[in-house]
Amino acid sequence: MTETATTTAVCEHCDWRYRLPSTGSLPICPHCLQTELTPVDSDVTGMTAAVELVAPFSVPDADLSRGLQRFSSGFFFRPRDLTAENLHSRKQRLYLPRWLVDCDAEAGWRAEAGFDYQVVSHQDQFDESSKQWQSQQIREQRVRWEPRAGRLARHYENVDAPAMEEDAAVRQRLGDFDHTQAEAVDALSLDGALIRMPNRAAGDAWNDAVPGLRLRAVEECRQACRADHLREFDWTPQFSGQHWTQLLLPVFTTYYADETGVLHAVLIHGQTGNAYGRRQAAFRPARNLSLVLGALAVLALFVSLLMVVLSSVGGSDALLSLGPLGVLAAMVTGILAIVPIAYVWIFNRLQPPDPPI
Ligand SMILES: [Zn+2]
Repeated sequence: MTETATTTAVCEHCDWRYRLPSTGSLPICPHCLQTELTPVDSDVTGMTAAVELVAPFSVPDADLSRGLQRFSSGFFFRPRDLTAENLHSRKQRLYLPRWLVDCDAEAGWRAEAGFDYQVVSHQDQFDESSKQWQSQQIREQRVRWEPRAGRLARHYENVDAPAMEEDAAVRQRLGDFDHTQAEAVDALSLDGALIRMPNRAAGDAWNDAVPGLRLRAVEECRQACRADHLREFDWTPQFSGQHWTQLLLPVFTTYYADETGVLHAVLIHGQTGNAYGRRQAAFRPARNLSLVLGALAVLALFVSLLMVVLSSVGGSDALLSLGPLGVLAAMVTGILAIVPIAYVWIFNRLQPPDPPI
């Protein structure tokens, strides 16, 4: 495929390496937001295979809005800058890579092939109401297993394997990607998007591609046997002619500023709208609320003690009974005063660290 002019750049802080359109100045790293990208030599051995398939950004607007709304709500003392609208307007398109490998495989194999069949039997029961025996037909599904063996010589295309060390973390946090949406592209038009470059060499990813190849072989052998199931599959494959290309998967990156002005990156799945990142509750409004509650507690305690003193001087039973109630109210308010600060402290501690992946 042909490509438009691109620049390769690296983030010196998080070490993510990108390809991006070679127009304009280099942006801040959208992953960690810590520093501007630095141009580098693009020729890193084992990391620059051609892009073959691209999964487009296909998330419906409603799903994207829902994902951002879910991320920016659902907790107290939200920073003013963390709104679905801000996240939406600041989003930047980024493609994440996965390796695709084509190869030839020759193998001897053996397995147990399973064939479904039905057993029809009859169950007789004596019916008390009619005083007659009644027969009921029962169909039971069973599998007949037979040993099978053979040889296969096949060419497999586009078996995928992780191209990033963070691949499993991305899938765990954002959800999996639908590879069937990927399209072959004649010309890679970045149109402002960034491409994250692999940081895992194709050779290292080979072991992760083998289980995918085995799954395809199992399915082909099952079809060759015209079996319904295949188990105990064992093969001794010889692989050759590996050819590596890349599949690109869509995510958006965006960010918000917390109450202290620190920026936090957010990643959004480009097919489902799932958002992931650190949500930072604002400490200042929580502290202010705690101070107000604390002041109310002190005031209530002071008034209550005053009522107790006045009741002992004036002999008022009403004031004497209100005094302990007031002290109790002061204690409850005093305890409640801790809640906002404790909430923010616990909530922020439970959040994932920056950067999000
Ligand atoms: Zn970075």
